[in-house]
Amino acid sequence: MTFKILSAEFSHETNTFNVYPTTLVSFSNHVLLNGKQAIAQRGNKNTELAGLLDVGAEHNWQIEHCFSASAGPGGKVTSHAFDEILKPLEHRFSEQWDGVFLMLHGAMVTDFCDDGEGEILRRVRAVLGPNIPIAVTLDPHANVTLQMCQLAQILVSFNTYPHVDMRETGQRAAQILQRALVKEIQPQTLRAHRPMLEEINGGRTDIGPMIERHTLARKYEQQADVYAVSINGAFASADISALGPTVLICCSGDTAIYLEQAENIAEDIWAKRDQVLNIYYNCTEVADIASKWPGLRQEGPLIIADYADNPGAGAYGDSTALLKALLDSNIKNACFGPLVDPQAVSELQSHKLGTQVGINIGGKVEPKMGGGPLQVNAQIIWQGNGLVVGTGPMIAGLHKNFGDCVVLKIQDIEVLLVSIAQQMLDLNQFQTFGIDPRGKTVVALKSMQHFRAAFEPIAGSIIVCDSGALCTVNYKALNYKKVPRPIYPLD
Ligand SMILES: [Zn+2]
Repeated sequence: MTFKILSAEFSHETNTFNVYPTTLVSFSNHVLLNGKQAIAQRGNKNTELAGLLDVGAEHNWQIEHCFSASAGPGGKVTSHAFDEILKPLEHRFSEQWDGVFLMLHGAMVTDFCDDGEGEILRRVRAVLGPNIPIAVTLDPHANVTLQMCQLAQILVSFNTYPHVDMRETGQRAAQILQRALVKEIQPQTLRAHRPMLEEINGGRTDIGPMIERHTLARKYEQQADVYAVSINGAFASADISALGPTVLICCSGDTAIYLEQAENIAEDIWAKRDQVLNIYYNCTEVADIASKWPGLRQEGPLIIADYADNPGAGAYGDSTALLKALLDSNIKNACFGPLVDPQAVSELQSHKLGTQVGINIGGKVEPKMGGGPLQVNAQIIWQGNGLVVGTGPMIAGLHKNFGDCVVLKIQDIEVLLVSIAQQMLDLNQFQTFGIDPRGKTVVALKSMQHFRAAFEPIAGSIIVCDSGALCTVNYKALNYKKVPRPIYPLD
């Protein structure tokens, strides 16, 4: 028997503190593809879609993939973008389907609804009825609502941060869907939640207590009636009532026992809420460490991650405080990127390569958070288009687009100025623009954790900076209004 599967990929991590709405243009700047294009570009890479197609081929499914849409993390998704993107899916609702497979992020907030994924699922259910099996893949930075668990039987998140198991996650969710389609199982997904802005280490899985939690989760998955256990660190920059870490257990049978197992892991997240793994240095401390680098017995650059200005969590990427501190300390043989400033890039593109210019860069959106515009004298050493093809463990063969770009040499720091915000997660995001991170003494980049997948292997050492930008861990600097109080660590 051939099963007919309706699928779509609609992913957004919404930072409700970011003032820019996420529009159709925001999606087309990142990923906005019809089904055919998506399969051609993403169907054989490290993506959930590839995992779906793998399993679909194994079971001879007829998969109708409607679209893949993903914008960079940013402000609330407009109702116009939301409705337009969903249309090709809704147009297929009138046909007969055996199952639905949705690749979602799990932290989408729109300008009309705080539970974007719940709304997508609600629309699917409203037409296709209560019985059709729906499988959903999630990013572990999802804020998973009860509504999502009530509307989809199968919810499965990536198990890694840096995220490197997207294809595997697609395969796991699709295999559970297959078992539901042949009526071997009747899965449902239960949820345990804790009143925290996020798991204290943002869900990182490379070191710390999350390793043991995942070991326990794999052990729980050995039970015959348990199909997947997902641990979501949550996304702290979404001011919504359902914010917070969740543990999901996709199972059937005696659900009381399995809910208790999910609660066990959630309780460990709560109990270890003070075990912070990163040391968050301020910009002055970072510059001081950088000025003394390299220390004895160290090979490779000092990598400095600006955690707070990570465009990958919806920060603007234009914070200048760290760059200013590095320049003030006259750091040698360094690179810095990206600095998001489309206005400056556009002005700089009109100059000739090699020109020496005086210009204001960065700090234009919210100068109070992470530093205002920086006046610099610089030489233009690279100009052009910012399309990058990844090579590293996260995005090998996939495209990332910085829009128009310029590289400035300011003192002895090469600064990558870009037009479209992207976090740094691949060496090619420097190398494409003639910047060689391996050859640098100091590499400063904007990312929280994902950079480690590609940059840890070349690093002499890694330090983390909280520049005070929009994704600062000083949560009290943000004006939370909707999260239920008390919540850790605000109260
Ligand atoms: Zn994530």
